[in-house]
Amino acid sequence: MRVHERLDELYAIGGGVGANRVAGTEGEDRAHELAAGWMREAGLAVEVDAVGNLIGRTAEPSVWTGSHLDSVPFGGKFDGALGVVAAIEAVERVGKGAVAVFRDEERGCVGSMAFVEGGVLPECFLEAHIEQGPVLERAAAPLGLAMSIVGIVRGERTFEGRAGHAGTVPMPGRNDALVAAAEYVLRVRDAAIQIDDAVATVGQIDVEPGAANVIPERVRVSVDARAPDRERLDRLVAELQLEADFRLEPVPMAERPINALRAELVERGLPVVELPSGAGHDAAVLAGAGVPTAMLFVRSLSGGISHSPQEESAPEDVDLAVEVLTGALRRLTDGTD
Ligand SMILES: [Zn+2]
Repeated sequence: MRVHERLDELYAIGGGVGANRVAGTEGEDRAHELAAGWMREAGLAVEVDAVGNLIGRTAEPSVWTGSHLDSVPFGGKFDGALGVVAAIEAVERVGKGAVAVFRDEERGCVGSMAFVEGGVLPECFLEAHIEQGPVLERAAAPLGLAMSIVGIVRGERTFEGRAGHAGTVPMPGRNDALVAAAEYVLRVRDAAIQIDDAVATVGQIDVEPGAANVIPERVRVSVDARAPDRERLDRLVAELQLEADFRLEPVPMAERPINALRAELVERGLPVVELPSGAGHDAAVLAGAGVPTAMLFVRSLSGGISHSPQEESAPEDVDLAVEVLTGALRRLTDGTD
């Protein structure tokens, strides 16, 4: 099927190991040129907006679908690309709708943010995307429905202690900042476990003065905390006593497009797995701007590894995703949902 050939063609850009289509490089431009060609073959009117987003429309472009073609360095074959090739296929089959390929998703949804500020918004938006996690594989489900895109809070905690000679200061009475930080790291994990679908991660630690024979005096840890709705995110942040340096609000997906996708799953006898998206997506930007939006997740294999050449989805799952996306697009454009 040509969907697979197109995924191969996009993946071959850069010519090395992994997808190498970093935003703003020739790799992303080349991918946009390929997609523009496929849109023209599909009979779509192709345009490029001020920030380089690629749009292909039919004469009835009320419902939009799409994703991004930029990648991280040495990224996977499916992240973004799957949603674009599936979108072109779905719009061609239905003969209605529009396809959007947003620029520069990986560094913060730059293209979709410019798009929603730029003027007329779609009536509805659908994004198919590889799950990038292990939930669907564990549930033995080829496809899933994102019910929300998580909110993210990032911050730092600093622990102060007292430096001293690692050999001469007795254990009783020490004030070791890293021991306090270590207890906090465990608390971060435990707090997230207590809240459904929340996750929290300490990914960076700075230790001062940072010598093997000196008791740590000051330790800074980073915290990345995520939850699918505001109530859970607030609870997690309070539990972690975290001051946010960065906060992105959670975004719920909309009932109508979710139900159109769900009806297609049910019609095919597929299990309906609902899950939050733990990663940010262009769909979150559209939803945040008030566009009724839904995401169709496609099962990741190999434990959900992503942003890596090992990222994998089965060809038959990709085919199912195209069918379900096509069916949902038809329901939403024809008003038969
Ligand atoms: Zn992506």
